[in-house]
Amino acid sequence: MKLKALTLNGFKSFADKTKIEFTDGLTGIVGPNGSGKSNIIDALRWVLGEQSAKSLRGDKMADIIFGGSESRASLNRAEVSIEFDNTDQTLKRLPESVVICRRLYRSGESEFLINNKNVRLRDISELFMDTGVSRNSFSIISQGKVESVFNSKPEDRRYLIEEAAGISKYKKEKLKARSE
Ligand code: ATP
Ligand code: MG
Repeated sequence: MKLKALTLNGFKSFADKTKIEFTDGLTGIVGPNGSGKSNIIDALRWVLGEQSAKSLRGDKMADIIFGGSESRASLNRAEVSIEFDNTDQTLKRLPESVVICRRLYRSGESEFLINNKNVRLRDISELFMDTGVSRNSFSIISQGKVESVFNSKPEDRRYLIEEAAGISKYKKEKLKARSE
């Protein structure tokens, strides 16, 4: 599975619709302090289902909506979508191109979509479980996380390894089967 594009619209400092396309190879994002590099990573985690405003560096979830600048009024909606090339069927039973979209309105209303179809947050989490792409998986490693992996308890470190090896889904199913 490959990440093809990330589109931000009204997310944090990205008031205008901005599409970032990822081509083969390594992509680096450079820019001066405060230009929005980390906001792009926040958008990536948010669209994959991040529920903690703090880990998105805000106090409340509405802080991710463009809050206005000297020359522009604030917006009422943030939208982020992420497009994957799924030709290898990492995401089972879904087409070759998969677009996940998340929206949040100032009213508090929010939406998740998979290929334009409304879904629950749970559907997104389950879809990405064991693919290495989930919101708190090893595929996104923040500055602080490197340290926390070294300092974490063996059980927590094991969770990371299980997710990487792709067995957490089976553990969850085993627990479910036991309780039935
Ligand atoms: P550094 O190199 O210092 O890490 P950076 O490129 O990672 O910088 P970010 O942290 O991504 O920068 O961007 C911070 C900027 O985003 C700040 O100027 C902040 O005002 C702006 N910002 C954050 N949230 C919002 C919002 N809701 N509305 C408008 N601007 C926002
Ligand atoms: Mg930064």
